Amino acid sequence: MSKIMYPGSFDPITKGHMNVIEQTLALNAFDEILVAVLINPTKKEPFFTIQERVDMIKEIYKNNDKIKVVSSDKSAVDVALLYECSAILRGVRGVNDFNEEILLATINKEISNNKVNTLFISADKEYQFVSSSVVKEIFNLNKSINNYVDPIVEERMLVKRRRS
Ligand code: ADP
Repeated sequence: MSKIMYPGSFDPITKGHMNVIEQTLALNAFDEILVAVLINPTKKEPFFTIQERVDMIKEIYKNNDKIKVVSSDKSAVDVALLYECSAILRGVRGVNDFNEEILLATINKEISNNKVNTLFISADKEYQFVSSSVVKEIFNLNKSINNYVDPIVEERMLVKRRRS
């Protein structure tokens, strides 16, 4: 079974992430996409807990048995090896993303002894500028985020705001 892992913070998952996933599914090159919510210690004060992020992604893809979701505090390459994924999926939003990503991809290939390659996908034009941080900023301005996230995510953000 061929598996590709899509690592990220997903705080929260956006339509940009979802577009990258859809395009990868459309390639029909992998039997499974393993979305890995990784703990990123450089990102302080997350909006959602890791478990909340995992639950939302599972809910969004509950009818798609090609999408699995895990979380981990390990590095992306270690998670890929652990779950026997032959590739890591990364979305690129432009040259800035790419400069950093190409370096990471090269390191990951090397430290995994060529077991883990990286596939880059760019989001379709309407999602190029969508990021989790932009979503949170717009939400904090009390504006609608339904162009940028699945309704499940918007609902959970509103619930969290009401409870805080
Ligand atoms: P962010 O960078 O938005 O905080 P993540 O760390 O969750 O997001 O990102 C996971 C992966 O998804 C990264 O490879 C990131 O570049 C990619 N990604 C996120 N948003 C987009 C988008 N709008 N278009 C293409 N790739 C994206």
